Amino acid sequence: MATLFAEVSHFLASAPMKLFIGGQWVDAVRKGRFETRDPGSGKVLAEVAAAEQEDVNRAVEAAQRAFKTSGWPALPANDRAVVLHRLADLIDKHRDILAQIESLDVGKPFAQAAGFDVPFAAQTLRYYADLSVHTRPREPVAVSRHEAYTLRVPYGVCAFIIPWNFPFTLLSWGVSPALAAGNVAVVKPAEDTPLSTLYFCHLAQQAGIPDGVINVIPGYGDPAGAALAAHPGIRRLSFTGSPEVGRSVAVACGANLVPVKLELGGKGAAVLFEDIDLDQTADALVSALTLNTGQVCCTATRWLVHESIWDPFVKRAKARLEHLNIGYGLLPGTEMGPVVSPKQKERVLGYLRRGVAEGASALLEGGEAEIPEFKGGFYVKPALLTGPPENVCAREEIFGPVAYLLPFKAEAEAVDLVNRSFYGLANSVWSQNLERARRVAEAMVSGNSWINAHNVFAHGIPYAGTNLSGLGGGVLGPETLFDYLRPQSVVRPLS
Ligand code: NAD
Repeated sequence: MATLFAEVSHFLASAPMKLFIGGQWVDAVRKGRFETRDPGSGKVLAEVAAAEQEDVNRAVEAAQRAFKTSGWPALPANDRAVVLHRLADLIDKHRDILAQIESLDVGKPFAQAAGFDVPFAAQTLRYYADLSVHTRPREPVAVSRHEAYTLRVPYGVCAFIIPWNFPFTLLSWGVSPALAAGNVAVVKPAEDTPLSTLYFCHLAQQAGIPDGVINVIPGYGDPAGAALAAHPGIRRLSFTGSPEVGRSVAVACGANLVPVKLELGGKGAAVLFEDIDLDQTADALVSALTLNTGQVCCTATRWLVHESIWDPFVKRAKARLEHLNIGYGLLPGTEMGPVVSPKQKERVLGYLRRGVAEGASALLEGGEAEIPEFKGGFYVKPALLTGPPENVCAREEIFGPVAYLLPFKAEAEAVDLVNRSFYGLANSVWSQNLERARRVAEAMVSGNSWINAHNVFAHGIPYAGTNLSGLGGGVLGPETLFDYLRPQSVVRPLS
């Protein structure tokens, strides 16, 4: 077993963990609790207070109070940015602690959490803090015989419902633009992975974020998430998760006419032309497929391979996946950890069974992975399938390390196969012919098209799904800051 940092042991020993409302750590009104587990061992990490309707009410009221009285919305953007930079610095300072918490709660390799999840979260805070400083809060408009200007003002209480695959990163993608714009937040983390979000609250307090500006209410999707989505006191909601739940959240927001941003699932394709470097491309796609044990919304799970390179490419990808180091996230050398929960493990295994029953054949058989030292963990092996394009595993999001391979002959055929999906989050095209690669990248219908790479994220580039993958403008782009600022025009006739 890996050694925990003293700070992490101390944090876990503080369980049962409480809700963070109005700057106070409080029990749930009905005293409900749930357990969060280590997916690598199956053992309970901590008991956590489970929010219900009354707690959601308290959190929204605390946020409303903070919006009125904390001074946060009225602070000049550069003063807010100082506080947010302080928070980002604290995140960086606590990088390894946060990465260990994230690795324990999600199962992901520590190196991935320390190398991406945590630092990217700090960078997101800094990006929106800096952007807010360069945004005009008052824009004069030329209207004849009138004085006119448009203010950009925060909405008020913004709600965030977060999934379990990148809890800390997605927390920051959500709240950073909202806070930088002067809003206040109520956050419901996923019930499988609440820990890094709770630790974040300690850092937010240390950074000087006023009480009530950030409220965190762990709990089950229903009742906590559903109550938050339906609460008439919220002014905006951002949801990241599955299309099924996203739809119900959007319906609840629609009933209150609350604007909603949805970041949903995907079934990303990678189109591999005959002129690729076989070794490099196999390495890159295997990394993409196994990152976070395939629990990545934008990962490439449909590999469209030019028929002339089918055999050598499959051979290389298979060889790499067979030698993948699957194991406990905190052990050095682990390349792929467990999936997050028994439910998720059964989802992956169930899709493999259904896919084969519908006529798919396994190029690399996946299934349960046995890790002798961690028998209680939720481990699966990567799988490569092939078969008819209408197979369930070629169409639906599995959210595990499973790729469905299809051969193609011509460019148009590949583009057509990519665009048959009802998702539209992210695809990639691989070729040394950049003119062709650009043509295909632009023809694939999705929020993100990558060339000779997969999973590239950068501040300033909007990450937004289309079709079943999301609506409402996405995240990470400069426009996202304006999603959290409502325009208010002031006009006066000149006498
Ligand atoms: P999920 O939809 O089951 O849960 C997401 C969140 O919604 C959790 O906090 C959950 O508690 C909450 N929830 C569940 N039921 C609810 C309800 N009735 N009302 C309100 N909230 C409810 O999704 P998941 O399994 O946690 O995450 C996996 C999904 O998220 C995948 O489809 C994945 O592609 C998607 N995802 C998308 C992005 C993106 O940026 N597009 C990023 C990460 C994950």
